[in-house]
Amino acid sequence: MSLKTDIFRKKTIIRILAVAVAFCCAFASLVYTSPKASADEELDDLQRQYDDIEQKIQKNKDELSEVQGEIKDNTKKLNKLNSEISDINSQINILESRISTLNADISSKETSISKIEDEIEDINKQIEDTNARMEETRSTMQDTRESLMGRIRENYMNGETSTLEILFSSDDISSYFTRMEIMQRVSESDAALIDDLTAKLAKLDDLEKELNENKTDLEAKIVELEEQKTALDGRKTDLQDSRSTEQKKKSEVTSKKKEVQSIINELDHDSDEYKAEIKRQQAEKEELSRQIDAYISAHGSSLGDTPNATYENDGHMSWPVKFKSYVSAGYPSYSDGSPHWGIDICAVGGNSRGRPFNAAQGGEVIIAVNDGNWNYGFGNYCVIDHGDGTQTLYAHSDNIQVSVGQIVKEGDQIGIIGATGNVTGPHLHFEVRVKNADGSVSRVNPLNYVTNTTA
Ligand SMILES: [Zn+2]
Repeated sequence: MSLKTDIFRKKTIIRILAVAVAFCCAFASLVYTSPKASADEELDDLQRQYDDIEQKIQKNKDELSEVQGEIKDNTKKLNKLNSEISDINSQINILESRISTLNADISSKETSISKIEDEIEDINKQIEDTNARMEETRSTMQDTRESLMGRIRENYMNGETSTLEILFSSDDISSYFTRMEIMQRVSESDAALIDDLTAKLAKLDDLEKELNENKTDLEAKIVELEEQKTALDGRKTDLQDSRSTEQKKKSEVTSKKKEVQSIINELDHDSDEYKAEIKRQQAEKEELSRQIDAYISAHGSSLGDTPNATYENDGHMSWPVKFKSYVSAGYPSYSDGSPHWGIDICAVGGNSRGRPFNAAQGGEVIIAVNDGNWNYGFGNYCVIDHGDGTQTLYAHSDNIQVSVGQIVKEGDQIGIIGATGNVTGPHLHFEVRVKNADGSVSRVNPLNYVTNTTA
């Protein structure tokens, strides 16, 4: 229990005041208006406001927790999208590294092709050169032939007809020279020249053949390289297609991520607003609590100072449960520092629910609420007035088994432990209240009044 408990003693006092006022009024004039009655209305009003603000705080807390749940869900979504993006990025990296390897392969093929093309160009030049030289040789042979023809014509004049017939029947220049060899009239130097030219022509012819063969080989090689390059280009295109598919996916996921992020931002904003509103309402609640305190201080309390004989009150309080138990949260604060104006009693072994609790001292039941409502966080609870300026309160019950006005003895079973009101689990919340000299009431440390005799 926290601040909510404050309200309890004020309610208690109000009830006592109300009873006193009602009693007095029964003997008073019907037209007499009690000043206490209007003062009570003021206190009632404060308490109504207090209950109202408490309900609002609870509602805002519920809504805040809903918003926080949504933030959690969306954060999960965001994380999932981030991991998708990261997967896509590594896929893109793999594709890019493959493309880069292919680019290197393609570039190497292109270098090879260009080298071979240079070689072919070189060979073409050589072929051209060889052709020029052959042309030149042929032309020299032609000249030589004409000069020989001149001399043969001179021989003809001298009557050598058969030689001329042979020469003119030759249609091929090399067979012409072969035949010429047979001829006796050619000078030694002419014969040497013709031999030389014939050999040279044959050599050039061989060279041209060889060059053409080389060129054919190189051209075949280029065709092969071009085919390889085309295959690589095809693979590169495939990879580039895959990459643009991944990039498209990435941009889709990224825009989804942006959407989720903007939802989270909105929810964060809502969450901040709820927190601010709760903070403001809590300040309002504390202010109301101060006003109620001030009212009670000013108007006093009607708690008696002498135990009623019928209560069988020996001025001693006993531990309010009879089973083996321990204190799970003590007075005046929880372990987190928030206020706690009583002690929480739990069964050893954790099976508190359904177990009975008992009156710590004899007295009169002045409050017994069994409606299952929030009731300032107490849930179902009861208060016993011991008539000696002390009261005890028992909260979070699943079933209160006494009613208002009932007289109980110390140790009487008064209810069943449960988990109603502001609890995280079943336990008995037990308070001791004492009237102060100025008429106000304080919640004191129960362990100054009771000792755990079950431990
Ligand atoms: Zn408690």
